[in-house]
Amino acid sequence: MSPSLQTTIAGSLPKPGWLATRDQLWAGWLHEGEALAEAKRDAVRIAVLDQELAGLNIVTDGEQTRQHFVTTFIEALDGVDAVNRATVMIRRRYDASVPRVVGEVSRPGGVFVEDARFLRTITDRKIKVQLPGPMTMVDTLQDDHYGDREKLAMIFAGILNEEARDLEEAGVDVIQFDEPAFNVFLDEVAGWGIEALEAAISGLGMTTAVHICYGYGVEANIVWKQGLGPEWRQYERTFPVLAESSIDQVSLEIAGSNVPLEVLDLLGEKSVQAGVIDVATDRVESPGEVAAIIAAVADHLPLQRIYPSTNCGMVPLTRPVAAAKMSALARGAALVSSAR
Ligand code: ZN
Repeated sequence: MSPSLQTTIAGSLPKPGWLATRDQLWAGWLHEGEALAEAKRDAVRIAVLDQELAGLNIVTDGEQTRQHFVTTFIEALDGVDAVNRATVMIRRRYDASVPRVVGEVSRPGGVFVEDARFLRTITDRKIKVQLPGPMTMVDTLQDDHYGDREKLAMIFAGILNEEARDLEEAGVDVIQFDEPAFNVFLDEVAGWGIEALEAAISGLGMTTAVHICYGYGVEANIVWKQGLGPEWRQYERTFPVLAESSIDQVSLEIAGSNVPLEVLDLLGEKSVQAGVIDVATDRVESPGEVAAIIAAVADHLPLQRIYPSTNCGMVPLTRPVAAAKMSALARGAALVSSAR
């Protein structure tokens, strides 16, 4: 029997009702000051416990300390006005309230480093931390200072690299850059997106990953996906570029999508975090369904390079649904491991 498949989630989990307002992607915190800090730590403990109980191998903090996967990081930087926000269309799809870049941006200190240190103390399993990718960052703000997306992305890449180095020192095993924008601005990926990603991972010793998805199961994404046709071939453009890059792993969406699996053949020797759980539906997959997708992925690359995961973050789901999906993920992976 080959070694067991290592399972993980894309990153986020729903927040408890006592921590933040429900049904919002931008969480409204229900506490402040030290009470909020304590509530966040408690939520992280529960998020980790839920992943461990489900049987997942590489755990995250469920992004319980973050209001949003992109803006929370940007708002921690100098040169950013998080109060006088702007509304911009992100990923050519929907309007969002975003921070404004008003001067030279820099990182005053660790953004998620304390969170990572805490996560390291509460679990013996491998830990993964997610950071927004440079291209997705420049797409999720109003730039009133630089006026050049590529230039700003490269500056963010340097800042992300500083943060990633600190996270590595804090004991993080896997660093993942969330780049849903890679599925939208296809020409820019080869142009400067990949260069910015390379700069962000430069010199890191831990496992590096990039997450590229079709988004949460929100209305604007569902409409977008309906217009993408019977075969979603965005990865066909980006995977050859990633295959030539230094990134170790690519996190991609498969379950419930129209992604043709032959795109996996374009990834060269990369490992994949294979999205075998659809986050755009409340329906919980059976372990057999999960196992079938993993087996289909295994037709394209060896099991040693497959990390079964979710398509995207589960923050928009309810907690029971997210827990059930994590259990299905672990059980489906175990079915495949035991059969080989
Ligand atoms: Zn995603």
